[in-house]
Parts: sequence; C-alpha cells; structure tokens
Amino acid sequence: MKLHTAIEEIHLRHTFTISRESQDVVRVVTVELSDGDLVGFGEASPSSFYGEDAEGVQADLQLLEELAAGADPLHYRDVLEQAADILGDRRGALCAFDTALFDLASRKLGVPLWRLFGLDPAGIPLTSFTIGIDTIEQMLSKLHEARDYPILKVKLGTPQDIEIIRQLRRETDAVFRVDANCGWTVDETIEKSAELKALGVEFIEQPLPPQELEAMEEVCRRSALPVIADENSVTPADIPALAGRFHGINIKLVKCGGILPALRMVHLARTLGLQVMFGCMIETSILISAAAQLGPLADYLDLDGNVLIQDDPYAGVENEAGRLVLGEGRVKRR
Ligand code: MG
Repeated sequence: MKLHTAIEEIHLRHTFTISRESQDVVRVVTVELSDGDLVGFGEASPSSFYGEDAEGVQADLQLLEELAAGADPLHYRDVLEQAADILGDRRGALCAFDTALFDLASRKLGVPLWRLFGLDPAGIPLTSFTIGIDTIEQMLSKLHEARDYPILKVKLGTPQDIEIIRQLRRETDAVFRVDANCGWTVDETIEKSAELKALGVEFIEQPLPPQELEAMEEVCRRSALPVIADENSVTPADIPALAGRFHGINIKLVKCGGILPALRMVHLARTLGLQVMFGCMIETSILISAAAQLGPLADYLDLDGNVLIQDDPYAGVENEAGRLVLGEGRVKRR
C-alpha cells in the first residue's frame, strides 16, 4: 500500500464557539491509502485540547510508511495493532490511518463497512445538529437555519445557559441536547439539570472538567438528566472508570484512534451498562462517513461536523435533515 497525506483547510459557515474556544478555520489531515487501482480515504481532525495539530499528525503518519508498504489491507486488524505499537498515544495519526485502511479493505471486499460489521442501516439513530455559543439573538437565527433538524445540540457553559434554552424552546419543539464542555460545577449541574429537563432537554454532555471525575458520582446520582462523558471518554482504557459516574459515553474516532478502538469502546460501554453516542469534531465527509458506518451501534449520534463547514472537499454519507443515509455509496473528492 502507498500512503499519501495532505493538510487541508476547511472553513466554518459560522464562527464555532464552545465554552473554551472559538474557531473559523480548521486544518485537517487527509490520507489516501492506495493499493493498485483502489484508494481508501482517511482523516484526522486534530484538536489542541488533546495535544495535537495538523503538522504533528502528518509527521506521525510518516512513521507508518514502511508498515503500509509491506502490508496486506485485508489483514487490517494485525496491521492496525502494529500501527498502534509504532504510534503509541499519537491517536490522530492512528485515526487517519485506521479509517483509510478500513475504507480500503471494504472497497477490496466490495461491501460497505456497515455491511461488513453486520449492521442494519435502518437502525441508525438521527443525528443532532449543533448550535455553538453566541448572543441569544444569533443563536435564535442559527436555530432558524437549523429548523429542518429534529434534534439540536446546544453548546452551553455561559452565564445565561437557562435563558438560552428557554428562548430557543419558544421557537421549536425539537429535542434539545446540551453540551457544557466542562464549563459547570457539581451544584450548578444538578440545579440546571431539573430546569433543563422541564425545557425538553434529553441529556447533558460533559458538565465538569475531566480531572473532576470522582465528583461525577454525585452528579450521576442526583442529576435529573442523563450525563454523557466526552472529554472523559477518550480511549477504551478510560471507560471502566466511567461506570457509575456517567450514563453514557461519546466516542469520537479522532480522540480514540479510529474504528478499531471505537469498537472496543462500544463493547466496553455495553458490558458496563453505559449508553453509546458517536460524536465528531469539525471535520470533512471522510471522517463523518467513517463514523456513520458504525451508527447503528449507537443510541445517539452527533455527526454533523461536515454540515457545519461551507467548503467540504469530499462527498460521502448524506445528511438529510438529521437522517444519515448509509447506502452503497463511497467517499469521493468533490
Ligand atoms: Mg462534547
């Protein structure tokens, strides 16, 4: 196999603000892994919160060139174990390589990944559409743009969280999910959970900073709404400690290192009685389509990174007002 990598700049439709940062432009690393005439596409959307950037991921990928040159894509499990040994905790590069290798293997086998994993596309949950933090006026205008989506994820962690949800609720009957991105305290979470439940919110994502994992026991016990781990749910090794502290986990391919570790996280979560959500960063249709292949394994999906950007260089799984269409179609460059 031949490994080709590139850094690509993608631009958001709106400045994307969460409790700790704002973004207009995102630099992703894309991979083309080729074997004869077939090409598999992979991607990493590195996040500084997890200590990665595009240049670093691209450099890490060079460490895999020799492995790729001598490997059979159909032996993807062995190849990915070797790649993980080479990369250690450089999970952005592992994700880009893993997703490209799974895509290539599935093209070689002539079946989409969801079929290879025995999944029923009819069982895929709807994905939410994310509304970033802004003035309430701007958030209402974004809500109007997102009116076709039946599930909205609203970023919180502001001094006026309840007021935001109250005003958005006046305009729509959509299901709301909220993500505090570590912006709350224990008492704040418990108090807000009851008010948010009354406003038709379905769950709360990552209220506390990840270092405060033990304090989540009390939140988990007393919150009126389920709490889903995101910043605390990075790799498979994190999952056992989340039982009793969260009700579910948000799996993102670029956090954990791709499809193989994501499957391990699903199995661990199910064993421990935790719910499963697949999420994303701001990323192109390559990585969204890869995660969507696993969609029927999830209770909740938040795979909207590609629809938040205005210049996606790739086409893949279509998002029809929150319904991800898993067909026989393949990712391709537009
Ligand atoms: Mg989150």
